[in-house]
Amino acid sequence: MRRDADYLALKPLGCSYLGPTYDPRTHQGATPYCGCKDLYADTLYCAEHAALMYVKGSALRKRHKDTRRADAIQQLVSDFNAAVEELEQEGFDLYSRDLVEESML
Ligand SMILES: [Zn+2]
Repeated sequence: MRRDADYLALKPLGCSYLGPTYDPRTHQGATPYCGCKDLYADTLYCAEHAALMYVKGSALRKRHKDTRRADAIQQLVSDFNAAVEELEQEGFDLYSRDLVEESML
């Protein structure tokens, strides 16, 4: 249970979610803030907006992580292809190496 001053001061105002059209400079918008009094857990958002705020953040982090991983794999594939090409240009037959070695016995 949160008891910090900010939380206790803001809690009576209800869900602090600001509508997408809200302009903080003029404090105006079609939906200035949700204001729903039924707050989710220890957040300053109602259940609907808590899901939106917190899931949105983690989804973005996950996407950044996936993008970095995809970039790393792409780099790996690119390096692999370059190495294969280099070996083949040097006359090395990468895929029939075993056959060649056997036939030399
Ligand atoms: Zn809300």
